[in-house]
Amino acid sequence: MTRPYNFSAGPAAMPAEVLQQAAAEMLDWQGSGMSVMEMSHRGKEFKSIIEAAESDLRELLAVPAHFRILFMQGGGLAENAIVPLNLSRGGAVDFVVTGSWSQKSFKEAGKYCETRLAASNAAQAHTELPDPASWRLSRDAQYVHLCSNETINGIEVHHLPDLKALGSDAPLVIDFSSHVASRPVDWSRVSLAFGGAQKNLGPAGLTLVVVREDLLGHALPICPSAFDYKTVADNGSMYNTPPTYAIYMAGLTFQWLKRQTEGELCGVAAMEQRNLAKAALLYDFIDQSQLYVNKVAGNCRSRMNVPFFLRDESRNEAFLAGAKAAGLLQLKGHKSVGGMRASIYNALPLAGVQALVTYMRDFEKTRA
Ligand SMILES: *Cc1c(COP(=O)(O)O)cnc(C)c1O
Repeated sequence: MTRPYNFSAGPAAMPAEVLQQAAAEMLDWQGSGMSVMEMSHRGKEFKSIIEAAESDLRELLAVPAHFRILFMQGGGLAENAIVPLNLSRGGAVDFVVTGSWSQKSFKEAGKYCETRLAASNAAQAHTELPDPASWRLSRDAQYVHLCSNETINGIEVHHLPDLKALGSDAPLVIDFSSHVASRPVDWSRVSLAFGGAQKNLGPAGLTLVVVREDLLGHALPICPSAFDYKTVADNGSMYNTPPTYAIYMAGLTFQWLKRQTEGELCGVAAMEQRNLAKAALLYDFIDQSQLYVNKVAGNCRSRMNVPFFLRDESRNEAFLAGAKAAGLLQLKGHKSVGGMRASIYNALPLAGVQALVTYMRDFEKTRA
């Protein structure tokens, strides 16, 4: 069976091997006589699943021992409230707004704490990354929020800022929803990272939070217990019923990631090499083309989400219909930006990007 290539921004393509294993284990997980969906989250079977998922993720992302890994629910958007509820301590928070997602985070946090706009690229239509040296960081901020990959605008932070060097003692919080596990994370610069699973880790319904241990235990009194990081951590992500099937699927994805190699590299380092090659192929093609254009500055183009436009927008529908016929799905851009967007997450292989470039080249040639 050949499946089309799926360029969806999320929920997004998952590795075929993962889907096949889940299908094989659907009715009877490893001789238990149960589907993972039917198991008690407190039973020994599911306990082994969640423990393996956590330790595999810790290994893959090289998460240091003084960070906790939490499996939560509510997605990235809920974290826009949950982070200030846990970290703002009644004080102010600095926001770097680089696109739609950090704009949403900034707005939502305003319900729970004083928010300050440290930098924004709105005047550049979210196509450039404000130089960290120009960020107006406040002395007393409880944390600094940064979206390290703006899924809609196609901006990625390739070098996480060293806040100390910029004169801030605040912890850095990153929303890494759409590039988690596509590249290593420099935990010496990050104090909390959160992300929905449905872009690069598994199905929707699971939210990953990786948080430095000393940040736990400071939630505001109004914080719902199920969203208090300390409560979640103290209960091994089982204060309430966790999204068991999504954790299982993410766990299978972690095992798949651990099996991936590129030369000497394995796991996330191998994925990074592949993702660099995929992104270079697509951006290089777009840049030399007469028909397609990507408007993001060269130093912050996302390796995961590539928005592009046809210079002749009257051909958008024809482009999408032809793509679908060629087995290239979900290339329509986000409604707030328009045009096209190719999301090329871990599960989308180089061959998929090659097929896309071949189609784009043919479309440009035959219908210019
Ligand atoms: C998708 C996404 C979100 C929102 O996630 P939900 O699970 O829909 O709440 C937040 N931030 C970023 C960067 C995203 O890509």
